[in-house]
Amino acid sequence: MGMATVAFFAPAAAGHVNPTLGLAAELVRRGHRVTYATTGTYAERVAETGAEVVPVTSTWEGGGDADIPQFHGRELVRAMDVLLKETKSMLAQLHDTERPDVVVHDGTMGWWGRILARRWQVPSVETWPNLVSNEHWAMSQKYTTFNPLSPAFLLMAVRLSRFLKKQGAEGMQAFMSGDAAVVRLVTLPRAFQYAGETFTDRYEFVGPLINERNYQGGWAPAGKGGLPVLLVSLGTAYNDRPEFYRTVLGSAADRPWQVVLAVGGADLDALGPVPANVEVHRQVPQLAVLRHARAFVTHAGMGSTMEGLHFEVPLVAIPQMAEQRANADRIAELGLGAVLPPEGITADALWTAVERVAGDERIRERLAWMRGEMTAAGGAPAAADAVERALGN
Ligand code: UDP
Repeated sequence: MGMATVAFFAPAAAGHVNPTLGLAAELVRRGHRVTYATTGTYAERVAETGAEVVPVTSTWEGGGDADIPQFHGRELVRAMDVLLKETKSMLAQLHDTERPDVVVHDGTMGWWGRILARRWQVPSVETWPNLVSNEHWAMSQKYTTFNPLSPAFLLMAVRLSRFLKKQGAEGMQAFMSGDAAVVRLVTLPRAFQYAGETFTDRYEFVGPLINERNYQGGWAPAGKGGLPVLLVSLGTAYNDRPEFYRTVLGSAADRPWQVVLAVGGADLDALGPVPANVEVHRQVPQLAVLRHARAFVTHAGMGSTMEGLHFEVPLVAIPQMAEQRANADRIAELGLGAVLPPEGITADALWTAVERVAGDERIRERLAWMRGEMTAAGGAPAAADAVERALGN
């Protein structure tokens, strides 16, 4: 296989960039030239893979994380509007990029990657960091809702269709589901996907593509023979939950745990005193902490879920939005941890769940099984093989 130029495109969001880093690093290791269009926020982690950073700016950065619309229900139209604006901005910034041999782009939100691949007439490989949908299982059957007849949606659909037509892209439905891609790489093992065996049409479940993230720095537990480590994080997006952080801080003091709490942008002064067995950070080097963790209280974003499972850490899922509810239900269904409803969490419910999952032998067995499924899925080498196969198309 000769050396190729591979161009990556992903939306400016940790949950979408992080799952691609292992693939970028593997392609670099194989001698390919990898370029990756991303913003300053993600430049360091991308550079660490050996990829060349193509600097771009995002229309949604700088506005704070609090206002990210969800891709369904009442917020769907606004989300599509945000994404269309971002797509136009990215296309304007990337219009004189030289033609690569293959495009790798995010399947859920990386519309500009899809459009550029089409414009360049090069094969494309998509990365899907979340559960995927088909006629047998769809996020919209149970977890998300939208009214296809609402005037706002119809108007948006017309705008989007018109835009896509101008770009020479296929119809809106086919465009959104990535029908033109050579392969859709889903960064979870098939066993985690609902109705996994029914996804046969160019879906490849490669499992998480976890890559060391040295840019975040290391982390070590308090000392040998110390308390077991509990990581508590609600991720990077829907994490403005001061009352939840106060519950953790207000109840941790007497618990036999070393607690690592990530609070994102929360106002630290409003969270109350920090007990001696708790560390509070805005962001933690999550992989480094999980390596030592005995339990993980997580919002069940798919990235965090896969990272926790990779290290065989029992999960307590506290989903904050629809996609996370779907992930959380799957965690429970597969016996990999527990789920708590996000509203009105009491200290008692929280710590009971933590103790229960950490001490449950059955969960430990299921975690070992899931880890086996991940290994069998092939990870970054399998994903890189798929990209190299696409080059032959
Ligand atoms: N992350 C991290 N430190 C933090 C919070 C998050 O490194 O304090 C990383 C985490 O490891 C994961 C990503 O950010 O790779 C978050 O993605 P996920 O899909 O879990 O959730 P989202 O933030 O998109 O809701």
